[in-house]
Amino acid sequence: MEHRIGLIHGDGIGPEIVDEAKKVLDAVCTKYGHTFVYSKLLLGGASIDACGVPLTDETVGQAKDCDAVLMGSIGGDAKTSPWYQLEPSRRPEAGLLGIRKALNLFANLRPAYLYDELRAACPLREEIIGGGFDMMIMRELTGGLYFGERKTTEVDGVRTAVDTLTYNEQEIRRIAKRGFDIAMKRRKKVTSVDKANVLDSSRLWRAVVEEVAKDYPEVELEHMLVDNCAMQLVKNPAQFDVILTENMFGDILSDEASMVTGSIGMLSSASLNETKFGLYEPSHGSAPDIAGQNIANPIATILSAAMMLRYSLDLDTEADAVESAVKKALAAGYRTVDIMSDGCRQVSTSEMGDLIVSYL
Ligand code: NAD
Repeated sequence: MEHRIGLIHGDGIGPEIVDEAKKVLDAVCTKYGHTFVYSKLLLGGASIDACGVPLTDETVGQAKDCDAVLMGSIGGDAKTSPWYQLEPSRRPEAGLLGIRKALNLFANLRPAYLYDELRAACPLREEIIGGGFDMMIMRELTGGLYFGERKTTEVDGVRTAVDTLTYNEQEIRRIAKRGFDIAMKRRKKVTSVDKANVLDSSRLWRAVVEEVAKDYPEVELEHMLVDNCAMQLVKNPAQFDVILTENMFGDILSDEASMVTGSIGMLSSASLNETKFGLYEPSHGSAPDIAGQNIANPIATILSAAMMLRYSLDLDTEADAVESAVKKALAAGYRTVDIMSDGCRQVSTSEMGDLIVSYL
């Protein structure tokens, strides 16, 4: 089958890691007889250099013509890059917020999975890790505190700032449905995280999630307060399957969950809209400190490509095959420098890509 895939190489290590993911996608085409037609899209710093702005209408239009977009990270070193002399709305990150908004990407998925081979990198004690953990953090991405009205004023000579947290039932319903759909493809458990003991927005969140749950009788639903969830993630991470939560709670909890795995270079992510379309990218940034050295870990981007195969292109077998090839490369003892440990063999970015292709 033919699929149209947009590639955003991005900044820093972006071009190196996207090239490795493309190598793996090309191997998937050969093995399974698909055709992937790629188009190159500009975003972030690369777009500022070429077009003067971090996101152009042309990029949005090109993305809309694709079935899915795979992206390396964007951005540079805030202290040294000229991009950060620009006003905030013209900096690289504004391009990312802009494309998420233009494509209505409201559902952010971040898996946190502990590879057996990388247990040593996990900061938790062995008795807590137990049989490992495998969770999916599902974060609402376009509402809540980050998009509400805000202002800073002076009240009686005292500087005062206000941010507003708004959700309507439609916004909650669509992300909840996505969460339950994903749970149906996994271990069929949803933990909905809120602060319903304090916030009205959380009480509405909880009520709407309960309504959606009625359509998914096979899925176990539990509610958890966000402060308890932050604690449970380090106390007993294996209890979680899908964590469903709003924008700011998800921002914080997904970073916590990624740290618990101990290896940022391994973590993929996806941002989806109401169609099959998704933007797939590693959870880490553009790592300008190691850019151009062929030492970055490409696995997070390769696993993001696997998520793209599964969630946007409905190629589950192919996605499983890529994930299994990654596991085999790790099991054979190959490591990039960020996940290197005693007794393993250190490989470069491109060697890791080649190895994963060979296991595929
Ligand atoms: P970062 O994730 O880029 O780097 C943090 C540390 O992790 C660095 O030491 C880096 O070398 C290392 N690292 C990250 N990815 C790695 C990989 N694949 N292999 C090996 N090591 C890796 O975070 P940062 O330094 O805070 O941010 C750098 C830039 O990235 C900033 O401009 C930031 O705004 C941007 N950023 C972009 C995104 C995105 O595109 N979605 C996300 C986060 C940060």
